Order: sequence, then C-alpha cells, then structure tokens
Amino acid sequence: MAETPQITKADLSLEDKLSSLTFEPDDQPFITVKTEICRGCEKKPCLYVCPSRVYNLEGDELIYNTDGCLELGMCTIVCDMIGKGAITWDYPRGGKGVVFRFG
Ligand code: SF4
Repeated sequence: MAETPQITKADLSLEDKLSSLTFEPDDQPFITVKTEICRGCEKKPCLYVCPSRVYNLEGDELIYNTDGCLELGMCTIVCDMIGKGAITWDYPRGGKGVVFRFG
C-alpha cells in the first residue's frame, strides 16, 4: 500500500499560509499613517512589500487598513518618509493582532 505524502509548510502557497492565520482585532489603532505626507511619496513602496496588503491606492490617494496586518514592520523599513513621521507603528496591545498557528 502506497504511503500518503506528508504536506509540509514548504508545500503551501502564500495564500494558504495567510489563510491559516487568525486575527484578534484591536480597537485602538496600532498603526497610523499620515496620508497627507504620502501624497509627496512618488514610489509608494509600502504598496509592494506588505503581504497582507494593508496599503492600497484609492485613485491617487493612499489608504490603509490594518485588519490582517502580520506585524512584520516591512512598511516602516521601506517607507521613504518614515523620518518625516509618515508611519507611526507599534504592535497591537497584548493578546490582540495576528495569531500564528503554524509555528
Ligand atoms: S512609503 Fe511611506 S510615505 Fe510612501 S506612501 Fe507608503 S506610507 Fe506613505
């Protein structure tokens, strides 16, 4: 009898991995973005690094929604205007935010 192959984390797509996560919402914002500063940001790299797609465009305006944020902090690393205070970033309060169930 043939053995059933084991599925490991490495076999899962990014979408599969993201769908295995759960989130406990925090009613206090843990990330705030001064979107008026973003108007002067030409490349908007935050749009491309966040796997949860916290950052999006609505027309020419940057919008953001922290629901589903994985708390990686990549947006703060790539933000062209972090020194001007475009993003204020912190972890959600204790017990809130992303819950990793796969290690
Ligand atoms: S990279 Fe920073 S300044 Fe540029 S759009 Fe994103 S949050 Fe705004």
